[in-house]
Amino acid sequence: MTDQILKTPVEYLKGVGSQRAEILRKDLGIFTYADLLCYYPFRYIDRTRFYKINELDPELPAIQIIGRVISKEIIGEKHTKRLVARFKDDTGIMELVWFQSIRWMERMVEAGSAYIVFGKPVLFNGHFSISHPEIELYKPGNTNKGNISLQPVYSSTEKLKQFSLDTKGIQRIQATLIDQVIREVEETIPQYILEKNKLIGRARALYNIHFPDNNEALKAARQRLKFEELFFIQLKLLRSKMYRTQKFKGSVFGNVGHYFNTFYNERLPFELTNAQKRVIKEIRQDTQRGIQMNRLVQGDVGSGKTVVALMIMLLAIDNGFQACLMAPTEILAQQHYLSIKSLLGDDFVNIEVLTGSTKKKARRTLHERLENGELQILVGTHALIEDVVQFKNLGLVVIDEQHRFGVEQRAKLWRKNIIPPHVLVMTATPIPRTLAMTLYGDLDISAINELPAGRKPIRTVHMYHSQRQQMFSFMRDEISKGRQIYIVYPLIKESEKLDLLYLEAGIEAISDVFPMPQYQISIVHGKLNSKDKASEMQRFVRGETQIMVATTVIEVGVNVPNASVMIIENAERFGLSQLHQLRGRVGRGAEQSFCILMSGNKLSTDARKRLDTMVRTNDGFEIAEIDLQLRGPGNIEGTQQSGVLDLKLADLALDQNILIEARQTVIQLLDEDPELKSGSNLLLRQYFNKKTPGISWDKIS
Ligand code: ADP
Ligand code: MG
Repeated sequence: MTDQILKTPVEYLKGVGSQRAEILRKDLGIFTYADLLCYYPFRYIDRTRFYKINELDPELPAIQIIGRVISKEIIGEKHTKRLVARFKDDTGIMELVWFQSIRWMERMVEAGSAYIVFGKPVLFNGHFSISHPEIELYKPGNTNKGNISLQPVYSSTEKLKQFSLDTKGIQRIQATLIDQVIREVEETIPQYILEKNKLIGRARALYNIHFPDNNEALKAARQRLKFEELFFIQLKLLRSKMYRTQKFKGSVFGNVGHYFNTFYNERLPFELTNAQKRVIKEIRQDTQRGIQMNRLVQGDVGSGKTVVALMIMLLAIDNGFQACLMAPTEILAQQHYLSIKSLLGDDFVNIEVLTGSTKKKARRTLHERLENGELQILVGTHALIEDVVQFKNLGLVVIDEQHRFGVEQRAKLWRKNIIPPHVLVMTATPIPRTLAMTLYGDLDISAINELPAGRKPIRTVHMYHSQRQQMFSFMRDEISKGRQIYIVYPLIKESEKLDLLYLEAGIEAISDVFPMPQYQISIVHGKLNSKDKASEMQRFVRGETQIMVATTVIEVGVNVPNASVMIIENAERFGLSQLHQLRGRVGRGAEQSFCILMSGNKLSTDARKRLDTMVRTNDGFEIAEIDLQLRGPGNIEGTQQSGVLDLKLADLALDQNILIEARQTVIQLLDEDPELKSGSNLLLRQYFNKKTPGISWDKIS
């Protein structure tokens, strides 16, 4: 291998040595030449232009300005002591500030002289200033900073800076490294793919990501490296999908029989939406190919995923199989069990529920009935995947709320049958397309993107604490119409004590305004034991209480169609997808439903965007996109264990096009040459095997 040199420990690089190497390892995880080469600048200083003072804006990165120092003075005492220079161009005045090396700078900077300054402008009290700018004397006609126009900026650490590896220092060793190794860098993607996607070669891209000649070159470099990142993730995902379809046979649900038909024709109380019909059709096709199905069904809260799941379970039964449905919490499992039972009606299908709290004796008979095949549908929690739970002939597993079940757990389910059961994953948290392709890129995806007809969209308003009286009177009106109301408080580990105080104060205020016996209130929070929690919940479900004050424990699970108002306190503290989930608790009945977002007056830009988004739209898919843009993929639930976070350059919110291109490329590649045997694909296969030990390509063929 010619790129052997890239494995050299970084300490052997000229200008590094053992001491710095150790800090590079510790602080930045840089062990080898290759690691350093892939330690990219996080931004670039644009030295191609000069800014004017009246163009400054706090969003700007470090920029350069030409102007004249008109005065300077040392002000403040002890640790507030600083040198402040007033700096002026023909459009305005700003300040340059030094907190360190004050005496030295005071001697260096001359009032009356013109300078070029570099730095990040910040806005404070209506004035712009730059702290510790880089500064140099301005000489007319000499504004071109040599041949570097875009200067790379690397993030560094205090420790590294002590050993002169600040951004400049890192830039220096990068230059040394590139000089030495750039000719050895190997291409990883076949030439014909590069050409087809108009991408530059790897060596050139790596050179230009560190030392771009201009914006064009930088763009091409980033494009290429992003494509590479996404290409290999897709290759891994689609390879494993291909592998699975080759290895695992799937049961064939060829027969649409008694159970499916009876339910559809006689028991289904409503017309299916077109989206539901389409998804059922997609699943039916999947289950007839003799290949194990792995499908993700996304659909907003209330889009009717349960019915879809149920109909596929009936299809499984029609073909002589058992089915199970797994939910993330006990409450949700119970609720699924009850709603499925009521949809099915009596004396039709044998169905049971199994959770952690199922009693030993009941459990034993349940196991028996599962093993002899009498039980047709089992609903439950994680308890389902325990090894003691054995089925006679499990054909279908439905998992509600996927992201709480890891890949490991899914695999465990497969082992429950000789032919692995089909897997249907349901999620009410719509995931942006790009994220879905990356997180669940090995699954097929269906979307129920339509709500049942006649649903009134929930009306959402944003109110401030000062409008509380208005909120109370609205609550009174709704209660007098016979409706029920949720009030939800945040309860976050980091601020738990304070949050509980808020909750208590809130409960007190509500009990004052809505006194017994005229009003009844349920109180549910995580500090209650599960028995009390359940009984408080039940009082609300039965309609004995009009108001339920709760922390986010109600986020999943509760279904009370008569509840038509969701009030979220301190709404600014919730994430978008959580707000959307909470709002989904109402709007389940025939009445107009409302969501009231209560917040303080001081809102960050992001918080305001979240609340505005909630007010503007009910569309979970749109909300998911905005959530991704605001938080980045790293904070979206379910991304932690995936490769998404290893992305260095690609951004799933911004690089949709590149991702789609990469995925298409891989799909076509595997279609034409599934074993990667021909010509230049062979190199790709070798590279893949080297890069991802443990899931070598060779296992396939
Ligand atoms: P999800 O799990 O997607 O949030 P559910 O499956 O719980 O939604 O359905 C929400 C409610 O809508 C349930 O009461 C269900 O019976 C009802 N429902 C489902 N599909 C339809 C439909 N096509 N028309 C009318 N009501 C429906
Ligand atoms: Mg559901």
